[in-house]
Amino acid sequence: MPAPRPNLSKVISQLAAHYGKPEPPITTDPFELILLENVAYLVSDERRADAFKILRKNAGLKPHEILAASHDNILRATKLGGMHPEQRVSRLKEIALIAMNEFGGDLSQALKLPLPKARQALRKFSSIGEPSAEKILLFARAYPVLGLESNGLRVLVRLGFGEEKKNYTATYKSVQDAIKDQLKDNYDWLIGTHILLRRHGKELCKTNAPRCEKCPVRGSCAYFKARVRTPTSRGSDRIIKATPPTS
Ligand code: SF4
Repeated sequence: MPAPRPNLSKVISQLAAHYGKPEPPITTDPFELILLENVAYLVSDERRADAFKILRKNAGLKPHEILAASHDNILRATKLGGMHPEQRVSRLKEIALIAMNEFGGDLSQALKLPLPKARQALRKFSSIGEPSAEKILLFARAYPVLGLESNGLRVLVRLGFGEEKKNYTATYKSVQDAIKDQLKDNYDWLIGTHILLRRHGKELCKTNAPRCEKCPVRGSCAYFKARVRTPTSRGSDRIIKATPPTS
């Protein structure tokens, strides 16, 4: 018989007590969230935020401003954002072009579409798969969905929500199905949950060698309980290496 699922609300309260109140996202504008996703690659949150600020200062954050900006002005931002900065200049221009051509430069109407169509609209942009689209819908307070990136997903699987499946998309769905009856219809709680799960996955519930001995939610964790019973068990390590789809 499968183990009972943990109480998600209790887990999130314990994470909030451990990490403190989550910092709000640096932007809640849907187009800016797409830029933020694409301005950097494989860098720290601080570097990404710095690259985003440079982009704002040198080029602007509206579609028409990105299109009008010089290559070099955008490059100043993408150079801070890690490898392949030239490619990211082209990508940001392409994103701005899609926003202008398909959404008239304003994504707010697309976010008012029914949920599947709103998700689909956001997925037209580079690097935006279903998880990122749901994160944007949440941060922009368009739909109360819990978009999860890979860290948060890993934490939830280890806790015992859903199962690791043969690919990332199937695992994401399994986790979403497992948590749906415990989600609150409250944007502040959902955004805080996204941020806390991500932070926990980055700081303690890491891909390799999670720091369970320091974890405030180990009492609720299926992975931890299995490891105590069978010290060699590696639980759901494989998911952690999976790469989320971006289109
Ligand atoms: S007990 Fe370990 S595996 Fe479970 S959530 Fe905490 S760090 Fe992750």
